[in-house]
Amino acid sequence: MTSGGLAAGGQQRTVMTVTGPVATDDLGTVLVHEHIFLDMRQSYTEHHPDARYGPPEIHMLGEWRRDYSKFPDFMVLDDVELAISEISAFAEYGGKTVVDATPIGARPPSRSLYPEGLRTVSVEAGVNVVAGCGFYIQASHPEYVRTSSSGSLAETILSEIDEGIYGTGIRPGVIGEIGLSQPVQEDEWKVLEAACEAQRQTGLPLYIHPYFGARARIAPDVAEFVLRKGVDPQKINMCHMDGYMNLDYQRSVADLGVFISFDNFGLENYYDSIDFSYNSHDSHRHEGLLKLLDLGYRDQILVSQDTCYKTQLTRYGGYGYAHILRNIVPALAHAGVDDTTLDCILVKNPRRLLGL
Ligand SMILES: [Zn+2]
Repeated sequence: MTSGGLAAGGQQRTVMTVTGPVATDDLGTVLVHEHIFLDMRQSYTEHHPDARYGPPEIHMLGEWRRDYSKFPDFMVLDDVELAISEISAFAEYGGKTVVDATPIGARPPSRSLYPEGLRTVSVEAGVNVVAGCGFYIQASHPEYVRTSSSGSLAETILSEIDEGIYGTGIRPGVIGEIGLSQPVQEDEWKVLEAACEAQRQTGLPLYIHPYFGARARIAPDVAEFVLRKGVDPQKINMCHMDGYMNLDYQRSVADLGVFISFDNFGLENYYDSIDFSYNSHDSHRHEGLLKLLDLGYRDQILVSQDTCYKTQLTRYGGYGYAHILRNIVPALAHAGVDDTTLDCILVKNPRRLLGL
């Protein structure tokens, strides 16, 4: 066990960002799970019979909240100038670090955005940016995933970690988010196994995206699988645990010793065309978080906003990347959460998850 910002040998622990290694003590307040540049059309909107194209307009917003999959272009984040201004709002509220956990399958096709645009945003907005790697859900896998062994997929992940994303020298600092459907698809298990191998070899944190929303059930089995593969529980971030607001479900994962993320703050949507379920709303997240804190899970909780839609940006009527700092933190403080606990969730836990 090490404490503070020091690694076992006494050196400063660091995190790989898109501009190079940064000391964990300099990470400050972290959004552990965001997307600055993203294209999720392949995963979610390809076949909607009633798809509507074009950027968000105000008359579409109500419909979008009932069924996001009808609006393919909302799931593309690809504007560098807009990203700089949106991320700058997070910095204005004191934010210092954003993890963009976007793997192959969810990245926009242009390398000038992912990863090179990330570096531009980091420099211009004055915020550390950490990039991701690995593969998203099976619907988005490139063809070679189906025919590759988990060993060769691990090599693909490791080559991005060693040589940078697409060989650019811009290196990821987290593995993931690794996408899993429900039930988990065969190729997704293979990718997850590859990601575990890459984690064991590099020590980087492993971000797992399990199917989420009110019908999510797979996270405990997935966490057990990853632990059986020998991944350090302190390097596992089980994402989107605030989608199914069920204390027993959340505890069954947290009790395995891994981090659980309430990372959908600000997303308050329904899934009418899929199964008429819903994603939790901020009031549920707020209540759930207070319960987990009461039960002593403070050191395992992470928070973020998982920005994936244009409609989450302030430009298009969303809360923006500053939402947690501007709206959620004051609400938690008002509910009696003390500064030490807030510091733990926003600074110390991310530092422990991310630092090497
Ligand atoms: Zn995700």
